[in-house]
Amino acid sequence: MPHVYSHSRISTFENCPLKFKYRYVEKIKSTRGNIEAFMGSRVHETFEKLYKDKMFHKVCELEELLDFYNQRWEKEMDDSIFVVKEEYSPENYRRMGEEYIKSYYEKYKPFDDGKTIALEKMVILPLDGTPYKLKGIIDRLSERDGVYEIHDYKTSLTLPTKEEVENDRQLSLYALAVKDMYDDADDIELIWHYVAFNKELRIKKDDEALQKIKEDTIKKIIEIEKAIEEDDFYPRKSALCPYCEYQEICPLFKHKHVVDKLPPEEARWEDGHALVNRYWEVESKIKELEKIKEELKEKIVQYALRNKVQYVYGSEKIANVKIYENPWFPESKDPRREEMEELLKKEGIYRNFTRLDTIALSNAYKNDELPPVIKEKLEKYVQIKKVTRIYLRKTEREE
Ligand code: SF4
Repeated sequence: MPHVYSHSRISTFENCPLKFKYRYVEKIKSTRGNIEAFMGSRVHETFEKLYKDKMFHKVCELEELLDFYNQRWEKEMDDSIFVVKEEYSPENYRRMGEEYIKSYYEKYKPFDDGKTIALEKMVILPLDGTPYKLKGIIDRLSERDGVYEIHDYKTSLTLPTKEEVENDRQLSLYALAVKDMYDDADDIELIWHYVAFNKELRIKKDDEALQKIKEDTIKKIIEIEKAIEEDDFYPRKSALCPYCEYQEICPLFKHKHVVDKLPPEEARWEDGHALVNRYWEVESKIKELEKIKEELKEKIVQYALRNKVQYVYGSEKIANVKIYENPWFPESKDPRREEMEELLKKEGIYRNFTRLDTIALSNAYKNDELPPVIKEKLEKYVQIKKVTRIYLRKTEREE
């Protein structure tokens, strides 16, 4: 792997390590793309044209700009673009993009808000003391009254909170790169254009805040490098999965795609699908039988009490009904538990009644929570065993 990172690479890893592996380690070309990203790209291209024309002293007419947007839309649109929200069509998204462009145009015309220095500007930031570099593309870099402005266009339908803006990594890293590239870039403003809301968010960050983001980014890169070295990537299911272009190969969704592609009558008999249906059927019956068992137990006890018998005779088995009193001590969550434990310790008999929690020890061992020296000493006792479990969860249809 080259040691060049970007904000989107790092975010991909944070959102889902497996997606990171598909995209950046295995470099698997995705065969589909979501409509949101598609629309975002068309809007970005349109703003690029708008400011490029402006650099040539041409204020592009709105109509021409929308024509450009629609032509690009038509040229790039194909069957690989998918829509997650089934109630909307690509046409809805195309119109959304048009509206964003119109409202932006009306707000900023004649686009004299600063002098554009570069569009889609590639920046590289070396991360001192490490072999890593950060790469990014600034949508628009401009300058106004000696202040460098980093503009970023967002087509997202969620407006970030103040805290999210303050903690943003992407534009902060761009600011560091701009400082590195231009001697007079002391004063930098970060500007997000949330075009769905026709809103701009502006922030300036001091050197200390930028430095902190740089250090956190280096730590994150080291974490990613470790995952690469150990080939340790796992799928992280989240609200982003429906938009993921790797669903068809992801172990969490691959089978769903196989089943969805089959006609319903064939899908029923697909091996995995049929096995899970049977498994669920059996598990439901077990739960039902457990409930019946509890009810029968209670009835047998009542029978024994009513008829003053201990043995209740069936054809194959005898039920021996024992009713006795047992002492119960406070459970771990009981507030008196600690007091009782203290008492046992004081009396010197605590160890007689405590057992090592090997499950907690196994978790601490597995999650690297033990000091390395202790972990090493424990190695001769540990045996790695393969565990297989099946947890049944609701399908998206049921959720
Ligand atoms: S579908 Fe979800 S879990 Fe699977 S690779 Fe994509 S983001 Fe990760």
